[in-house]
Amino acid sequence: MPKDLPLGLPARPGHYIAGEYRAALSQAVFADVNPATDEVICEVPLGDARDIDLAVDAAEQAQKGLWGRASAGERAHVLRRIAELIDERREVFARLESLDTGKPLSESRGGEIPRSAYNFRFFSELAAHQQSPTFVGDDGSWHTSLREPLGVVGLITPWNLPLYLATWKIAPALAQGNAVVLKPAELTPLTAMALGQLCQDAGLPKGVLNIVQGEGARSAGEALVAHPGVRALSFTGETTTGEAIMRAAAPGLKKLSFELGGKGATVVFADADLDQAAATAARAAFRNQGQICLAGSRLLVEEGIAGPFLSRLMQHVAAIRVGDPLDDKTTMGSLIHRSHREKVMSYVELARKEAGVTVACGGQVPAGRERGAFYAPTVLTGVSQESRLVQEEIFGPVLTVQTFKSFDEAMGLLNGTRYGLSCSVWTRDLARAQAAARAARTGLVWINSWFLRDLHTAFGGMKRSGIGREGGQLSLDFFADMKTVTMPAPGGF
Ligand code: NAD
Repeated sequence: MPKDLPLGLPARPGHYIAGEYRAALSQAVFADVNPATDEVICEVPLGDARDIDLAVDAAEQAQKGLWGRASAGERAHVLRRIAELIDERREVFARLESLDTGKPLSESRGGEIPRSAYNFRFFSELAAHQQSPTFVGDDGSWHTSLREPLGVVGLITPWNLPLYLATWKIAPALAQGNAVVLKPAELTPLTAMALGQLCQDAGLPKGVLNIVQGEGARSAGEALVAHPGVRALSFTGETTTGEAIMRAAAPGLKKLSFELGGKGATVVFADADLDQAAATAARAAFRNQGQICLAGSRLLVEEGIAGPFLSRLMQHVAAIRVGDPLDDKTTMGSLIHRSHREKVMSYVELARKEAGVTVACGGQVPAGRERGAFYAPTVLTGVSQESRLVQEEIFGPVLTVQTFKSFDEAMGLLNGTRYGLSCSVWTRDLARAQAAARAARTGLVWINSWFLRDLHTAFGGMKRSGIGREGGQLSLDFFADMKTVTMPAPGGF
C-alpha cells in the first residue's frame, strides 16, 4: 500500500466479509489505478463465485441473528452512527474517492461524501417512522400489511458516484432489516473498502454488510446475481448490463430494481432566464466530467435565442478548469479510465465526419494533460436527431446542441431517444413548464433547475433507463417483503 494514501483503508486491501478483511480465496488480485496519473494505487482482491458464497453465508447468518430481529429504532441507532462517522471522516473519504475516480476533490468533499452520510440518516429515520395502516371491515374484521425483511440482498454499483450510489442502496436495505452483499465497480473499490471498517466502528454487527471486490461478467458480479441465497438485486449501471442481469436473475425469480443509462436533455425556451439556464446547462453537461446518468448531455434550444444562449454557454465552458483532481481550484478532473476516454474520443471523431456537425469547442486532450485520462469539455453543434451522437449514451464531457421552433418539436426531440431518465426545462411560463412536465417521457423533470433532489421522491427512469423506482418509501418497500395479516371480528370464527 503506498505511504501517501489517506488513512481509512485496511493495512491489506481485502474483501470485507463477516466483519473481516480477507484476500480472495483464489489469492487473485487486480490493480486499482489512479486515472489522473496512471499510477497503481493498490492491489485489490479479485473476487469470484467462492468469495460470493462466503459473503452470502455470512449475510444469511447475520440477518437471521440480531439484525433481522432488531427493531427499526435499534437499527436506526447504528445507521445514524455510520452517518456520523462518514461526516467525521469526510476528508479521508473525499480523497479516496477523488484518487479512485479522478473527480475534483471539491465535488467529493462538498457533495458526494456528505450525501452518502445523509443517505444513512434519511433512510434510518424513515424506516423508524414507517406506518402499517390497519383497515377495519364493515364486519369488524382487521386487516393490516406488515413489512418484513427479505433476507440477503445483492447490490451492484457503478464507478461514477461510488460511495454515493452504494450508500443509496445499502442504507434502505439495512434500515429494513436485511443483510447486504455489495459488489462495487472494479474501477473504484476504495471508498467501499473503507466503509467496511467504518461500519464495524459504528457497531454494525459482523456479516450484516459484506463487500466483495471484483469484476462483473463471468466474475463476482455474475455470481452474486445467480446466487440462490440472494432474494433481491438493486443494480445501477449500463442498460445492456441490466439486460444481462435480468436474464441471469430469472431462474431464482429475484426481485429487481434497475437504475440504468440516460441521455438527458436541457430544453431552453426563449422566455427563460438565459443567464441561469446557461450556467446550469454547462454544469449539467460537464459536472463529474459528464459521467452522470442524469447529465444534460443534449441541449435543445429555441431557434430565436440560440445565438445569444450559446455565447453565454461558451463563457461558462471556457471557465471550466481542467486539472489535478486534488487541487481545490480544479472544476473538471480526469475521466474514469483511458479506455473510457477512447470511447468518448471515438464519438468526437464520428462528429468530425458527420455532415453539418461542428466541434464548437474542445474535442481534444487538454494541453499539458497527456498523463491520465483527461479530456476537454466539448460542444458539438449542428447535430441531427438520428445521429448516434444524440441517440447513444457517450457518458463523457460531450454536449450536443440542437435547435427547435415550436413546443411540439422540442418535446419530439426530448422524447426521441430510447432513454427516459431525466430532463431540465427552462421557461418563465408556468403553463408551458407544466405542459412540458406532462409531455416528457422521463422519470425526472426539473423545471428551471437540475440535480435538485428530495430523497422522499421517486427516482428512476422510463424506457431503457430503468425498471422500478427507488427513493423514500419506494426504496424501503423494494427491500421489504409485504405480509397481509387478517383477523376476524371478535367472536367471528
Ligand atoms: P456497468 O454496467 O459496466 O457496471 C456496473 C456494475 O455492474 C459494475 O459493478 C460491474 O462490475 C457490474 N457488472 C457488469 N457486468 C455484470 C454482469 N454481467 N453481472 C453482474 N454485474 C455486472 O456500468 P458502469 O460503466 O460502471 O457505469 C456507467 C453506467 O451506469 C452508465 O450507463 C450510467 O448511465 C449508469 N448509471 C445510471 C444511474 C441511474 O441512477 N440511472 C446512476 C449512475 C450510473
